[in-house]
Amino acid sequence: MTSIAANLQAVRARIAAACVAAGRPAESVRLLAVSKTWPVTSVREAVAAGQRAFGENYVQEAIDKAAELAGLGLEWHFIGPLQSNKTRLVAENFAWVHSVDRLKIAERLAAQRPAGLAPLQVCIQVNVSGEASKSGCAPEQAATLVHAVATLPRLCLRGLMAIPEPGEDSRLQRGRFALLRQLHDQFNAEGIKLDTLSMGMSHDLEAAIMEGATLVRIGTAIFGERNYTT
Ligand SMILES: *Cc1c(COP(=O)(O)O)cnc(C)c1O
Repeated sequence: MTSIAANLQAVRARIAAACVAAGRPAESVRLLAVSKTWPVTSVREAVAAGQRAFGENYVQEAIDKAAELAGLGLEWHFIGPLQSNKTRLVAENFAWVHSVDRLKIAERLAAQRPAGLAPLQVCIQVNVSGEASKSGCAPEQAATLVHAVATLPRLCLRGLMAIPEPGEDSRLQRGRFALLRQLHDQFNAEGIKLDTLSMGMSHDLEAAIMEGATLVRIGTAIFGERNYTT
């Protein structure tokens, strides 16, 4: 029998094993449970099993869930593509945004983050897969964007995020993650204090942790295969 609680335990064990293999402390990797398309009942099961941080891609779906689950002390992360007309809702309803890929979006989030809330925690999404992916800024543009976002009020720039193209070639995957890590190290050397590498999903969390991931975003391995038709 599989349950969300059992799946969560298995994912935590994978993270712990990958940390051992990488020679890193187990607490150095945070688990973000990606609950997009799953109902509030599924989120509640994960909460009962000790999970607190959840990732969502669709703004309205996430806001509806967060409202139903208000009072449980959950932390909501926006991880999907972000259009200008949705920035206000994101600025008002999330603790984190992982998918900032252009300055205009960051400026809108900064202007729209309510004064009564803690600064919005932000990652810059970088396209580490070239032509194979269209979301994220190009690696060559990341420095300019990172330096500009670091100066914006109401935002706290935490790090970088990437979604490498899916594939079986684990050496290629490692190379993509390594590129994100090199950028992270470069920006830290330039004086931009970053502490977050948001990389690794259900199929590649081990490769991501080997390359320094500090936060993995896991959906399928916790909740099961998503059905987008319903
Ligand atoms: C859906 C999604 C995930 C989770 O992917 P799984 O393969 O289901 O673990 C992680 N990150 C982002 C940005 C996503 O959109």
